[in-house]
Amino acid sequence: MSTSRLVLPDSIKVGPYDYPVRRVSTDELPDVRGDFCTDAGIRIVRGLRRKVALETLQHEIFHAIWYSYNLPSKCKEEDAVSIISTGYMAVLLDNPSLWALMKEVIKHD
Ligand SMILES: [Zn+2]
Repeated sequence: MSTSRLVLPDSIKVGPYDYPVRRVSTDELPDVRGDFCTDAGIRIVRGLRRKVALETLQHEIFHAIWYSYNLPSKCKEEDAVSIISTGYMAVLLDNPSLWALMKEVIKHD
């Protein structure tokens, strides 16, 4: 298991939008591991284990997809999964550094 810090991409492209990705302190973001908002982009708390940081990044990317592809707050499961899978495929194609990060964690953690 690698103990080196996971270096996150500076930004993630989700659909037509580029969202900054920042590490923040637990003082700035208490009680959660990360969050997403359209202005601040994705924030991930410092000090997380590498797999946890990567999973948290994925979680926030799914929120970004939800917003960027205009999913309503309530919708049918199949509609949500279809849009999220299409959105995530686009994220993977548009962000090769995300692939590299995933491969690194799979190989070393
Ligand atoms: Zn969430």
